[in-house]
Amino acid sequence: MGIAVSPIQIDSCVSDFIGKPRKMLIDGKWVNAASGKTFPTYNPATGEVLAQVAEGDRADIDAAVKAARKAFDSGPWSRLTASERGKLVWKLADLLEQHLEEFATLETLDNGKPLTVARGADVPLAVDMFRYMAGWATKLEGTTIPISVPYTPGAQYHAYTLREPVGVVGQIIPWNFPLLMAAWKLAPALASGCTVVLKPAEQTPLTALRLGELIMEAGFPDGVVNIVPGYGETAGAALAAHDLVDKIAFTGSTEVGRLIVHAATGNLKKVSLELGGKSPNVVFQDADLDAAIAGSASAIFFNQGQCCCAGSRLYVERPVFDRVVEGVAAKAKKIRVGSGLEPDTSMGPLVSEEQLQRVCNYLDIGLSEGATALTGGKKVGGKGYFVEPTVLVNTKDNMRVVQEEIFGPVVTAIPFDDPEELMPRANDTVYGLAAGIWTRDISKAHRLASAMRAGTVWINCYNIFDAALPFGGYKQSGWGREMGKDALELYTQTKAVCTRL
Ligand code: NAP
Ligand code: MG
Repeated sequence: MGIAVSPIQIDSCVSDFIGKPRKMLIDGKWVNAASGKTFPTYNPATGEVLAQVAEGDRADIDAAVKAARKAFDSGPWSRLTASERGKLVWKLADLLEQHLEEFATLETLDNGKPLTVARGADVPLAVDMFRYMAGWATKLEGTTIPISVPYTPGAQYHAYTLREPVGVVGQIIPWNFPLLMAAWKLAPALASGCTVVLKPAEQTPLTALRLGELIMEAGFPDGVVNIVPGYGETAGAALAAHDLVDKIAFTGSTEVGRLIVHAATGNLKKVSLELGGKSPNVVFQDADLDAAIAGSASAIFFNQGQCCCAGSRLYVERPVFDRVVEGVAAKAKKIRVGSGLEPDTSMGPLVSEEQLQRVCNYLDIGLSEGATALTGGKKVGGKGYFVEPTVLVNTKDNMRVVQEEIFGPVVTAIPFDDPEELMPRANDTVYGLAAGIWTRDISKAHRLASAMRAGTVWINCYNIFDAALPFGGYKQSGWGREMGKDALELYTQTKAVCTRL
């Protein structure tokens, strides 16, 4: 099977944007890399170069961090009221919403995901994230605290806390939800009063750069947001190690997460990490099986399986194993794999040649370890980085395809006999990002939700995200929570003030 990619007319604002080399945003100005270098970003549906982008490295990161430092320490940003800050973040949301179609198209071109998904999920969720966090700007409060101080008998004190921005924040984001990850990171940082240097993923820098233009249009002062595209080993590593950065926020692989922690030790900057997953999705025989089948298919196949929380280990109670797994395989067969720009595409290409190789390598490993593909199992021929949605059966708990994050549309289906036996197996992973449970028995559902070692548990649903709902990992899936009011903890710090009366 090959993929036919028909030429599609794209809006002129998008073709203008990708038509010239994109610069980086430092101190309110669009500039070339100090080295003058650029790098290509590709359209994964065709494998062709989509645009050229300025290649930031240590020198550009240094300039960006110094601009963010100045903006935080002495720029107009430091004197804005909380309400003015909130209004700017809200205005950014409005601008993004006005350009929804343009951002959705740009995201589909750069990342590959179906336009329907970019338009229906990525961009609206990013808009909502900015709006949600805009409201928090005026609600970051301290407390007054009655203190007793036993060693100063008779003395009276007035003690209170201030909640202050943490300072200059470095943010490093991945390619699977490029705009949305930028929003998850920027929105709480800006609402809190921090300044930012953002490094988008090398595979997908375009929507972050276009967002930078809207950030300047909204009226954020120079240097508050700096956007430096470039490679992880150069630009990313320099940002993580920079001594003038107070905090680094990272989303990506667990392996690079470890490098970030090491790099941060120089000045002991604060670190938050949102890393990989190998999430169990559990279907009981008493579930609404039609809903469980549809939900389990979407849990793994959404976004080409390139989700850190993908339901990649499907555990099914034995009496309904065949029905559920065949149902998920039937859904997989119906998925229309194609260019994200085609209106009837439900699964686009993987993001890159490298990611395609990685997923195909795991398929080979799984099959050679004795697993069987009930459906899928192969690369899709022709141009672009397409792979078949795949259901693997005859797997064993210790197989690499059951233990390691594949980050592609590949689910391993595994039968179980009772909850006692299931729970240790479901938790038998170094990760702890998410889990799914499908049952009509509410006591069982909540008992298991409590037993799952995961930062998010979905009951009778999967991949439900909201700006108000915290998201993050147990175990090696990360440190800290994004979204919700928990995210503000990452970008603020508490100062205790004590006055003797
Ligand atoms: P990655 O290497 O962890 O990349 C994530 C971000 O970190 C990118 O911006 C990357 O830059 C940057 N980076 C890479 N090396 C760095 C370093 N030494 N110091 C600082 N920053 C660095 O992820 P990937 O290579 O794109 O994907 C590999 C695997 O990671 C995937 O197959 C998947 O398992 C996992 N992943 C997880 C998530 C998630 O949401 N949790 C997202 C994406 C990938 P450049 O890539 O631009 O060089
Ligand atoms: Mg690209």
